[in-house]
Amino acid sequence: MESDKQTAQSILRLLPAVHEILDGSEIKRAEQVERLPRWALRQAARHVLDRQREEILRGDRMEPESLDQTHEQVLRETRKLLLRSLRPVVNATGVLLHTNLGRAPLAEEAVRALQEVSAGYSNLEFNLDTGKRGLRYEHVEGLLCSLTGAESALVVNNNAAAVYLALRVLAKGKGVIVSRGELIEIGGSFRIPDILEESDATLVEVGTTNRTHLKDYEQAIGSSTGLLLKVHPSNYRVMGFHKEVSTEELVALGRRYGLPVMEDLGSGCLLDPGVPGLANEPLVADVLRTGVDIVTFSGDKLLGGPQAGILLGRREALERIQRHPLNRVLRIDKLTLAALEVTLLLYRDPQTARTRIPSLAMLSVPEGTLRRRAQKLAKDLRQNLPASFTVSVRAVTGRTGGGSMPTDSIPGVGVSLGSAEFPAEEILARLRRATPPVVARIERDEVILDVRTLQRGQDRLVLEAVQIFSTC
Ligand SMILES: *Cc1c(COP(=O)(O)O)cnc(C)c1O
Repeated sequence: MESDKQTAQSILRLLPAVHEILDGSEIKRAEQVERLPRWALRQAARHVLDRQREEILRGDRMEPESLDQTHEQVLRETRKLLLRSLRPVVNATGVLLHTNLGRAPLAEEAVRALQEVSAGYSNLEFNLDTGKRGLRYEHVEGLLCSLTGAESALVVNNNAAAVYLALRVLAKGKGVIVSRGELIEIGGSFRIPDILEESDATLVEVGTTNRTHLKDYEQAIGSSTGLLLKVHPSNYRVMGFHKEVSTEELVALGRRYGLPVMEDLGSGCLLDPGVPGLANEPLVADVLRTGVDIVTFSGDKLLGGPQAGILLGRREALERIQRHPLNRVLRIDKLTLAALEVTLLLYRDPQTARTRIPSLAMLSVPEGTLRRRAQKLAKDLRQNLPASFTVSVRAVTGRTGGGSMPTDSIPGVGVSLGSAEFPAEEILARLRRATPPVVARIERDEVILDVRTLQRGQDRLVLEAVQIFSTC
């Protein structure tokens, strides 16, 4: 034992000092070329030395790592230290509103507004005409009303917050009647029954999974009923023998019994995107025309803006919600507001919205254009990949994601990659390790790069990412 300790001590004495490592010519060169900061190099050198020290004390290492190896490790560690955790990725999945990939990319105009407002001060809650305090909601309320015909509007942190807040304010301690076919889970733990429970309302389920009639709602109405709720099924559809009650019918029923009606639209389509797959997605303005009291939807789904929850409807109800203390808890921040206002401004001209808002623009790219882009990408990939790879262009089905049109798919075009050398999972994993990471999907044992969700200039990033297969 004693001699083991002595051995370890004598090996430890051979370890270089941090400053000796940092003086290495390899390190100096990288420091210059890659502009690596000293603090990061020093921290990385300490990590690398600590690791060696532990290995020596455990008896797993009988001599220090060579200086060359140590330098290489320090550089690798330094680069890792300088990587941010939240980074841009290339979305080659073909899912336009991928929740795990941050949903809607913002329009350039929205990004500029966000930058300008965040870099300095703004009139967030300051009325420039009167010099007095203003309301942050005023920056988008008028716009939302003129775009949708709503009487009043409010924005909060996200749609889950909007639904929760509305239920809490309008139906706390009361019964909320919902069709069994609409008791949905969105994922990320948003479930209608749970949200209802958290908002202190009582869920009153009516109808069956596939069929709910107006009389089911009517029979459930009692003295404790506070609200009739309709929920867009978003990510699933009941096919075949199916019946649901329309918003119009619910509104008429609500009127007869003096009950408010609310609809959670989920995605919220402000204009007809002009693509076949989305023809059945309800337009916000149409839903509001039924006279529904409150409609809620997300800012970062089909709308193509930042994460936000939008509430539209009757002034009286929305003012109660706006004044509620929980609204303060769930309030929208100025960066979101800046991006949301500018995204909404683009909607004043539908054609501008369709071309300037990235998700809408990507949604409407014709198949022929996608095919040409895929052919070009495939050709470049063949030149950049080892011969063991097969690259081909094929028709694929894309999805919007974000809870719109779960059954209707949009025809798309992808480039498929197969290799005798690497299994598809391995190709996918290596693409994810690129800078920036490329996220793709597997179909029938082949990696598919769907070109619909590749943004301008990203083809080049895909080509750079596949370099990793040539260098190993
Ligand atoms: C997506 C969705 C939500 C949640 O919206 P977030 O903006 O993600 O909070 C709520 N209800 C429905 C029907 C949805 O589709």
